[in-house]
Amino acid sequence: MATEKLKIIPLGGLNEVGKNLTVYEYGNDILVVDCGLGFPDGEMYGVDVVIPDVTYLVKNAEKIRGIVLTHGHEDHIGAIPYVLKEITAPIYGTPLTLALVRYKLEEHRLTDIADLREFRARDRFSVGCFEIEAIHVNHSIACSVALAIKTPVGTVIHTGDYKIDTTPINCAMMDLTRLGELGKEGVLALLSDSTNAERKGFSPSERTVGAALDELFDNCPRRIIITTFASNVYRVQQIITLAAKNGRKVAITGRSMENMVAASVELGYMTIPPDTVVDITKIKNYPREQQLIITTGSQGESMSALYRMAFGGHKQVEIGPEDRVILSSSTVPGNEKTVSRIINELYRRGAEVLYRDVAGSLHVSGHACQEELKMVLALTQPKFFIPIHGEQRHLRCHAKIAAEVGIEPSHILIGDIGKVMELGKKSIHISGTVQAGRVLVDGTGIGDVGSVVLRDRKHLAEDGMLVVAMTLSREDNSLISGPDIITRGFVYVRESEDLIDEMRMQVIDTLDACQENDIRNWTAIKSTVKASLSTYLQKRIKRSPMILPIIMEN
Ligand SMILES: [Zn+2]
Ligand SMILES: [Zn+2]
Repeated sequence: MATEKLKIIPLGGLNEVGKNLTVYEYGNDILVVDCGLGFPDGEMYGVDVVIPDVTYLVKNAEKIRGIVLTHGHEDHIGAIPYVLKEITAPIYGTPLTLALVRYKLEEHRLTDIADLREFRARDRFSVGCFEIEAIHVNHSIACSVALAIKTPVGTVIHTGDYKIDTTPINCAMMDLTRLGELGKEGVLALLSDSTNAERKGFSPSERTVGAALDELFDNCPRRIIITTFASNVYRVQQIITLAAKNGRKVAITGRSMENMVAASVELGYMTIPPDTVVDITKIKNYPREQQLIITTGSQGESMSALYRMAFGGHKQVEIGPEDRVILSSSTVPGNEKTVSRIINELYRRGAEVLYRDVAGSLHVSGHACQEELKMVLALTQPKFFIPIHGEQRHLRCHAKIAAEVGIEPSHILIGDIGKVMELGKKSIHISGTVQAGRVLVDGTGIGDVGSVVLRDRKHLAEDGMLVVAMTLSREDNSLISGPDIITRGFVYVRESEDLIDEMRMQVIDTLDACQENDIRNWTAIKSTVKASLSTYLQKRIKRSPMILPIIMEN
């Protein structure tokens, strides 16, 4: 047994932001840390979410002893409903994390099969041969923890997402004391959050946002509509506290925001001053300067409450010149366009719009910057270091920081998804690869949208399509009727009658040529029609729509 190594296999979250999932394997035991989803990029037409490929877990299902969650963000818990359809394992999480998991399982009607087990910071519990201790960290959602995982080879610290907030809201500062103690006892490896590894200094405290918001709420004659990430319990708490202080009533709208507030209040992570929150249908009964609405939609999501308010589709709220709209958030990369569109629309409606670019400190990040990363490295003094949670640039920066604080460069390993990192008491190396990647989810279909479907969708989206329907005689392939040309997303037919006629002529010529050259097979006829039309359109208008020839027989 002494020669057995610990395997660490990331199935997501490295060289990408999102879908975090790390496998720890020793002997016959597998521990899974986090089970998150990712969001599609602009090229993934119609894809709702992206989840990690968990084939490796399915193949080793009998070894899985549990899934332990670090916190309740989508990129750490979002894939649970999909993965639970493939494997069974108890799920461990802090109270708020599990409350959010429960909402998800209800949506997917999976509550019956889930075995949820609660723990709190400083608790210790065993999952197979792994002994786990939860360590309180600061982050943009309450109830976040890092994990100290005692393995037969040594202690591994997996931070999850974190920052060090010396003046946090409603909770204590990150448990640096415990990290220091573990460092003294000896840490084999540290896996640490790299999201902000490029940023110098310290991440500002959540409290600084409160100060900025207080100024904006104070003596404002307008109705205030404010949006933030629903999961940022501390932010929502600050908004409600400050609203009460400034004599405003608060209404909450948007499903994820309502769920989050309900769960946080129930679990004691949020306190609402008496007589502050009112129903969204009742808030108009108060004077404008006493109204404050907290809403979803900070990323410009088209189904969100803020979007509907801006574009006139919200039942209770329509935004106008009497409103001050505050975006207390940052724009997640990839959402720049949708956020910009909503800001433009809000301005167009005459509202006063305040967001990071024009109003400064309306948001702080939940991830550690360079000085905090150094502090965690210094406290834990790991023998080996593996940067996690980030794209290649973030991982590289974090590796450089680790070397700067004195970690032996040959003890720093940058992994990748699917790469098996093997740790012994004195060694670390990559020993192999397992299947890993992304699985695309569209509606209820999981994984049935692959690269071929995506390529077609991209083609359709960029160039449109063209159906050529024709009826041929069974005897001699002569044209009986058609060809009819139907287009979608290609040209506006009424203004392109000449072009359509030309295409029809082109098809007739091609069919004649087929007969002359004795091309009788319909598959061959179809591809000849397709090729000639495609060449013609490329020359004539420099476009290449998807062309679908259909032959009917008579
Ligand atoms: Zn997070
Ligand atoms: Zn994360």
